[in-house]
Formats: sequence, structure tokens, C-alpha cells
Amino acid sequence: MTILRVLNIQKDMLREEDHDGWRVAQRIWLAAGRPTERRKLIDTIENALNECRAEGVYYPKILLKRKKELERHAFSPGQSSAQGKPQAPPVKQDVKCQECQDRGYIPIGSGLTATLCKCQVPHAQPDPPQTQA
Ligand SMILES: [Zn+2]
Repeated sequence: MTILRVLNIQKDMLREEDHDGWRVAQRIWLAAGRPTERRKLIDTIENALNECRAEGVYYPKILLKRKKELERHAFSPGQSSAQGKPQAPPVKQDVKCQECQDRGYIPIGSGLTATLCKCQVPHAQPDPPQTQA
């Protein structure tokens, strides 16, 4: 488990110049006892940002973004249910497509075969008018 995992940050979101900042963040996070709880994570990120400043390390922008998202409850840390209170289940979204229940395909007959649902077929877009000089 890493702080990247807890903050749900994908590898391709990492930039080369953020590397040192992430190492600082990971170190602070480990030292804080690998918190996954929102309040503690916010504190940990805050400490990591301060540490980056103190060390003159460029801190990752996404780290600041995640902190704000945590504060606004716009992001929930990806935590294992092993510790802490059980998380409320995610809000169930309304199914957009009644035909396929958003599965993207419709089973045919016994379900051994399926057909692509029409919601998965991109609408044919007319070519935009070309304005060439
Ligand atoms: Zn559909």
C-alpha cells in the first residue's frame, strides 16, 4: 500500500518532476502510520506539502488537488475495510440505458451470445463544414 494507492493516483498521472515530491509524501505518510482516514490524510498531505517546501522539493500539484478534494468531500480515500469504519456504499447511479442496463451489450437467447447495444455505437456525426482558405 502506498499513498498513491490511497489517493487513487495512477502512474500515468505522475510527472517526472514530481518524483521527489512523491517520495517525501510517501515518507510522511508512512511516518504518520499510513493513515487512510480523511482527516488524517488531509493533515498528512499538509505535512508533506510543508516538508516539500522546507526541502525545496517541487511538490506534485495533484497532491494539493487531492487535499482540496478531501476537504470538500469530493474524493474518498481508497481504503481497505480492514480498519476504520465501513464506508457507505457508493451512491447508485441511475441506469442510463434501459436496453442493456449499462452493460453495453444485450444477451441473445440463452446469453451465450450478445449484441452490442445501440448506446455503445457512437452516433454518426456529420462532418463539420470545412472552412479552408
Ligand atoms: Zn445500452
